[in-house]
Amino acid sequence: MRALENLLSGDYSKEDIVALLKSNSTYELFTASKEYKRKFVGNKTYLRGLIELSNICSKNCYYCGIRSANTKVERYTLDQKQVINACKYAYGRGYGSLVLQTGERDDPKFIDLISETLELISKNLPAKMRITLSCGEQSKETYLKWKKLGADRYLLRIEASNPYLYKQLHPNDHKHSFEQRLRALEALKECGYQVGSGFMVGVPGQSLEDIASDILFLRDFKIDMIGMGPYVPGQNTPIAQKEILHKDERFLLALKAIAILRITMPDVNIAAATALQALEPMGREKALDIGANVIMPNITPPDARKAYGLYDNKPLDSKGLEDRDAELFKRIEDIGDEVVRNEFGDSLHYNKRIGKGK
Ligand code: SAH
Ligand code: SF4
Repeated sequence: MRALENLLSGDYSKEDIVALLKSNSTYELFTASKEYKRKFVGNKTYLRGLIELSNICSKNCYYCGIRSANTKVERYTLDQKQVINACKYAYGRGYGSLVLQTGERDDPKFIDLISETLELISKNLPAKMRITLSCGEQSKETYLKWKKLGADRYLLRIEASNPYLYKQLHPNDHKHSFEQRLRALEALKECGYQVGSGFMVGVPGQSLEDIASDILFLRDFKIDMIGMGPYVPGQNTPIAQKEILHKDERFLLALKAIAILRITMPDVNIAAATALQALEPMGREKALDIGANVIMPNITPPDARKAYGLYDNKPLDSKGLEDRDAELFKRIEDIGDEVVRNEFGDSLHYNKRIGKGK
């Protein structure tokens, strides 16, 4: 296929990406992206333990189940003991890093909560783990403060790089400004974080051209890590009833986007998002097979995990964490990947960007 040849040659256009997203013959694309993964980042899966620290949010993104206007959600913040237990579990299992995710707030109490949690983690773990924050848009001062307290990486999805689509997905007010989103991503880079971003695939009103633009945006912004997954409608959200692609199509489109990203940005870390699992039980493993190299097993205590409902059908493990992980790791090994233990798994793209490594 011409579009794939162009992509592999490095001399490709947005139209080539659209053609690949449109094409139903994925065999060659996935074979190529698999090979890129092997060659550039190895057949390896890195572990990040996801802690959903608090579902209190001051924003109202139209797609999200924990938006502040959703009064049906029971709000919580984990206590210190719960956080430490989760961290110790991950450490004991050889996870190289942790992700602390929350709803977005910018009040001083919240900023202190994250600061204190970072301090708590560094005091209570026998050795360093890489810490990723996913706590939304903050001032540069706050990003710097958290960086100094031990945060290494930050995830902030652009959600939609087309400002018009972004506006369709968010209320039209200063709290939900596209320009502010961009500034926050810039600030993260200036503060020295490994910066992760991404978008949702299959949101209402999104075209294949939009997805192609999102892919090019991540490339041009020189993002180090990618967290992107399918949109899954969430209960009590204003856009839940809008027309979208069938779930199988959204799933396949997300896989194609991952494959294209692996080829266009071979040395970035790409997460196999949990939303893939919400659409297809083996969704994350499929993503790892065709190019993703990071998985974020949820280590939040079960009750809180239920209340952190970004979207419907969120996978809630019925087993204990030990058994769940043993089975997950086995499935990852079955696709031919090594589940990497006791390594940070820093983004090679980041290391090169800051002049470390090749
Ligand atoms: N409040 C922070 C982090 C929590 S939300 C933030 O917004 O950055 C983390 C991610 O969940 C968001 O970036 C969004 O892309 C994703 N998300 C929210 N609702 C979703 C939905 N209905 N389907 C799929 N992903 C969703
Ligand atoms: Fe809040 Fe993040 Fe959900 Fe937006 S996506 S409503 S900021 S938790």
